[in-house]
Amino acid sequence: MTAGEREGLPNRSIQPVYLDNQATTPTDPRVVEAMLPFFTERFGNPHSTAHAYGWDAEEAVERAREDLAALIGASAREIIFTSGATESNNLAIKGAARFHRAARPKVVTFATEHKCVLESCRQLEREGFQAVFLPVRADGLIDLDLLAETVDEETAVVSVMAVNNEIGVIQPLAEIGALCRERGAYFHTDAAQAVGKIPLDVNAEGIDLLSISGHKFHGPKGIGALYVRRRPRVRLEAMIDGGGQERGLRSGTLAPPLCVGLGMAARLAAEEMVEEQQRISGLKARLLEGIRGRLDGVLLNGDAERRVAGNLNLAFEGVDAEALMKAMPRLALSSGSACTSTSVEPSYVLRALGLSEERARASLRVGIGRFTSEADIDLAIEEFVDKVGGLRAKGSAAAE
Ligand SMILES: *Cc1c(COP(=O)(O)O)cnc(C)c1O
Repeated sequence: MTAGEREGLPNRSIQPVYLDNQATTPTDPRVVEAMLPFFTERFGNPHSTAHAYGWDAEEAVERAREDLAALIGASAREIIFTSGATESNNLAIKGAARFHRAARPKVVTFATEHKCVLESCRQLEREGFQAVFLPVRADGLIDLDLLAETVDEETAVVSVMAVNNEIGVIQPLAEIGALCRERGAYFHTDAAQAVGKIPLDVNAEGIDLLSISGHKFHGPKGIGALYVRRRPRVRLEAMIDGGGQERGLRSGTLAPPLCVGLGMAARLAAEEMVEEQQRISGLKARLLEGIRGRLDGVLLNGDAERRVAGNLNLAFEGVDAEALMKAMPRLALSSGSACTSTSVEPSYVLRALGLSEERARASLRVGIGRFTSEADIDLAIEEFVDKVGGLRAKGSAAAE
């Protein structure tokens, strides 16, 4: 028995190929290395102003804040550290609506948003706010005319995901930003799947609030951030009260190792994003061509062009995706988002595109990332071709 097996860890030699980079990404070893000193010798509380331990931690946290801000064209003072994109989305949407409840009691979002956005809006509804959930087009993109008809002078915040976590489509951020600015509504974007993957510029795109998650771009889990525009000033009601850290928007002692890790992830993304996305795009094309060259009835869910490099969402006609995943234990992938994957219902995102229940049930998400190799892709092609073929043959034999 190996040490890994004793501790319940997967045996590395039989560890499946990881193709679920939208659920989470491995922390980059360079990120881990940057974090380590802040657990031990550099353990200070960044809010301690009386001695060098505190100053050292504070300096490191502020450096991280600058690196993260630079990645999205913001200034460091506009970055609020949080526990992740879930918290950032809650703070942005509930915070904006509650602050402006008298004049602007309405929030607007879309059916394909992440659960934490949809549930934040539902909670506001229970508190007496009006929440509007708009449909999306069949390609997963939003309808700007429909949005223009819906956003009015009663709207506090419009929340639209930059890159969808299931189908990878990239929304027209600058157009949404301009429309919101015109009506005086805040534009919030959940950019958990966009940061480090596509260029983002909060000023060019008219973004007022932007949510970031560390573990979606090779940073640590348990940390994220919310960008909060200063000019013109965005006002939010805090959710966590206390010592007034993070501009009074998020009290509590910051975690310097996590902040430093997030900052390092941002620096690596700034340096490597363009090249990395090109490489990932090539891997995606290789996978798609490899599968489609040998299998018929493989359909792409979501727009093919306006799409992030690392995402494929494929429907295999006549195949049940759950059965297919079980048949391919050498591949780690998923049929939808990790947050809803315990339910047997087909993905609500795919259903919102107007896809039939049958097609949604035949769909799998493939998430390619920084540590995916060509050999991983070639193994995946073999697995898909073999197992989809096998399940289809079994299906037609059973039907005879
Ligand atoms: C992962 C994810 C979240 C949640 O982020 P956490 O940091 O895990 O809370 C929110 N939105 C999207 C689009 C995501 O992909």
